Amino acid sequence: MGLSTYNGFSGRQREQVQRWLNEQWDSGELPRPSVCVACGQIEGIIDGHLENYDEPTSYVDLCVTCHLLLHMRFRRAAAWLRYRERVAAGWQAPPMHRRGQAIGELAKGILAGKYPAGVQRAAAPGKTFLDQLSTTAAPLW
Ligand SMILES: [Zn+2]
Repeated sequence: MGLSTYNGFSGRQREQVQRWLNEQWDSGELPRPSVCVACGQIEGIIDGHLENYDEPTSYVDLCVTCHLLLHMRFRRAAAWLRYRERVAAGWQAPPMHRRGQAIGELAKGILAGKYPAGVQRAAAPGKTFLDQLSTTAAPLW
């Protein structure tokens, strides 16, 4: 399954950049994403998210749950806003070790407003990277 267009970058462009990043991470040239900048997750799948694929080293570390929700925000704005409020208040989804598991948890839970058992962090982060993102499809670049 190919990637879709995002922020004006075609799926093909995005896939090329992702392949390059995977090579950089595998070789150790660039640090592999390790701590979700939004919810603080350090276990399971941590992705590198790009807003601008012309600057491939500008990736932001996001856990797969935050990352999937982020990419669903245009179609599921209400669920997205609830999710990021919850993250800002200190909630953290359980670590997802398989992408399919994350998609399943989202499909059956988060998008329907039913959150899986997670962790309440001692300190709420307040505004996070997620709050910088618009729910309208207007490209940032
Ligand atoms: Zn996260």
